[in-house]
Amino acid sequence: MLTQNRELRAIGVWNWSLPAWAGRLPDGRTYNTCPSAGICRQVCYARHGTYTWPVVRAKHQANLRFVLDDLPGWQQAMIGELGAAKFRGTWVRVHDSGDFFSDAYLLSWLNVMRARPTTNFYAYTKEVGRFRALVEPEPPTNFLWVYSFGGTQDSALDVTIDRVADVFPDEEAVTAAGWHSQEASDLLAVLGPHLVGIPANRIPHFLKLLAGRTFRSWQAEIDAERQAARRRRGGLRLATSPSPTVPGRPSAAQRDHAA
Ligand code: SF4
Repeated sequence: MLTQNRELRAIGVWNWSLPAWAGRLPDGRTYNTCPSAGICRQVCYARHGTYTWPVVRAKHQANLRFVLDDLPGWQQAMIGELGAAKFRGTWVRVHDSGDFFSDAYLLSWLNVMRARPTTNFYAYTKEVGRFRALVEPEPPTNFLWVYSFGGTQDSALDVTIDRVADVFPDEEAVTAAGWHSQEASDLLAVLGPHLVGIPANRIPHFLKLLAGRTFRSWQAEIDAERQAARRRRGGLRLATSPSPTVPGRPSAAQRDHAA
């Protein structure tokens, strides 16, 4: 179940993946493995290139099916696989695509981590609320994580306290912002300074959409637009709602009806 690509092999990291964001399994079931994805899904590296190859997609979907159909069985199988000597002292990245999409799935991973204390685990996640509730109070000692911007829970993050990762247009923009690139090793996302900068993938139409922004600033724009729209709708409702009834006096609507 655990795999390595060239970059991860070079730094001794193993990887577990789910299909990115939302889709449909061959049996017709729909899924969303990134329920807190925001703008990131518009420029999701894992919905591009090799991730879309049928063999890769089928592998990720098989992983998801195992989790959905038999979570206790999956947990046992993952603990069993991690018992091999080659995983002792190494790192496992939980998801290079997908996220901790449910409480039960996250709790299952925490059980795996506690059962294999000689292996280290790390993850990027946008599931801020779920981690605040289920991980932060008592994290496994062999688990590190970084909250990544570009999700619907960005406003719950505090860059002065939380370990956070943001995607920047390029390496120079990371440095100019005073953040710290993880380009040399993905493990820097959890072992380096707590403001983690990720240079954007050089995919032309993604860079065009990013338009010089970071994921954090882009998501903040969208959040502000949505808030303004909600306020406008609220104002409209107030303006058109009937005036409250004062005891003993007919409401405007009643007066109109009476007339
Ligand atoms: S959370 Fe990650 S995998 Fe999911 S849609 Fe966003 S960028 Fe893609």
